Amino acid sequence: MIDSFGRTIDYVRVSVTDRCDLRCFYCMPENGIKQIPHSEILRFEEIVRIVRLLAKLGIKKVRLTGGEPLVRKGLPSLVREIKNIDGIEKVHLTTNGMLLTENLPSLVEAGLDGINISLDSLSEETFEKITHRSGVNKVLRSVDAALSYPELRVKINCVPSEINRNEIIPLTRHFLQNNRLSLRFIEMMPIGLGKECTGIPEAELAQILQSEFGELSNLPNEVGGGPSRYYKLGNLPGRVGFISAVSHAFCSECDRIRLTASGFLKTCLQYDTGEQLRPLLELSDEDLLEVLRQTILNKPERHCFSSKNGSGLEQHIMSQIGG
Ligand code: SAM
Ligand code: SF4
Repeated sequence: MIDSFGRTIDYVRVSVTDRCDLRCFYCMPENGIKQIPHSEILRFEEIVRIVRLLAKLGIKKVRLTGGEPLVRKGLPSLVREIKNIDGIEKVHLTTNGMLLTENLPSLVEAGLDGINISLDSLSEETFEKITHRSGVNKVLRSVDAALSYPELRVKINCVPSEINRNEIIPLTRHFLQNNRLSLRFIEMMPIGLGKECTGIPEAELAQILQSEFGELSNLPNEVGGGPSRYYKLGNLPGRVGFISAVSHAFCSECDRIRLTASGFLKTCLQYDTGEQLRPLLELSDEDLLEVLRQTILNKPERHCFSSKNGSGLEQHIMSQIGG
């Protein structure tokens, strides 16, 4: 549907859990996290019902995220059910890759269209500094396993910061050898723990990449490609992408809403505006559809990442939102 600022909203990111098996320093504290009780997390049938109604409003693309979506059991069956909804064209997954290899066959069989795998380092030492867990080889095996399915779109997400500055070149050299891969650098966002973290801005990153690999040359934006801008880099076969919510705000083209694990329909990453749907699930489909329509209509015009505190701003951490 079209929101009140003329934007077409056709994409929902569904967080299926707030739990995670890693503790990335910019996303989740190592200890002391207050988890949402299981009884307050949307059941799969509730998610499917909400997505079915959203599809009536024009949502076509669904991304399953978390926390770590693969720590929730039975995810392939959710993929299958969402893919079967009239109007839903694509279902994608964003994962840290730790549990992906073993889940891939059933996810692909269920109809998954694409996977974004988050990885900030090729070195185990830096991986552990960032995630407070071990497992870089597991994630690398997952990337290879995903690439063994020619029908899957595979992208790598990396959040550059001072901790993995030395990893930018090795990651780029490694992943851009493959012409099926895009490596996307996500600018650190001042949400949750990210408010206290310093990332590497796009302009500086572009300089680092160009001095090692040669010119960045603009690629045409994909239709429905979202906020990433893609480039060829020197002679490397793969593509590099930048998602720079801070230095290149993309609010005027924002096409998305978010559904949190506890059932909050969130209309902007930065603001806490939206609607808590769980108490409204008793409504008829017709009435719930109207709530969804009104909530999307009230989507804010733009974020304001320069003001990090204030009323109405999101106070949750990223693992509770889904990225
Ligand atoms: N656990 C899965 C994963 O890591 O891919 C899915 C959820 S995670 C919240 C989704 C994405 O958000 C990841 O690519 C992660 O790097 C990114 N992210 C988390 N906190 C961030 C922050 N403060 N700024 C920018 N990106 C962030
Ligand atoms: Fe977990 Fe993903 Fe957050 Fe890292 S970014 S702590 S993997 S939810």
